[in-house]
Amino acid sequence: MSLTNPGWPRPRVDTPRGELPVPWISDSEKFGTTDPDRHADTMRARLCQVCGHRVDDDEEAWLFVNESEVPEDRDGLIALAMDDAILHPCCARLTLEHCPVVRSLFANRQLTVLKALGADVEVVYDHGPDSDGQTPRHSVDLVKAHPA
Ligand SMILES: [Zn+2]
Repeated sequence: MSLTNPGWPRPRVDTPRGELPVPWISDSEKFGTTDPDRHADTMRARLCQVCGHRVDDDEEAWLFVNESEVPEDRDGLIALAMDDAILHPCCARLTLEHCPVVRSLFANRQLTVLKALGADVEVVYDHGPDSDGQTPRHSVDLVKAHPA
């Protein structure tokens, strides 16, 4: 197990797909894995899974959702997103640019991206197979969902 320090720039490792930045939540020797203790920390303390720093309550938080795991109703989408870790906007961009899993979801039309600020959660990108082109807005208190 080789864990990286929090912050930017992210350390990079050689992978079969080239040199990629290592998210804070991953083991740098087993790229693509998630350290369970760090995952729990992200949930408990609103830590960004890429850089490991806190996403403050008044900061925008981004979330990626695998559409294939989403229940049929769109409220289920929000509930599922709440179970995953959040990202700073810049860390979300790094992920979209480099993460093989997220890029694969995007290529297969299975990626939904949510943006949350306080109680306001917005679907900013929905390319799921059932997307109707609408951009629904939900009122969900992300702060309550991720108590500090
Ligand atoms: Zn971050």
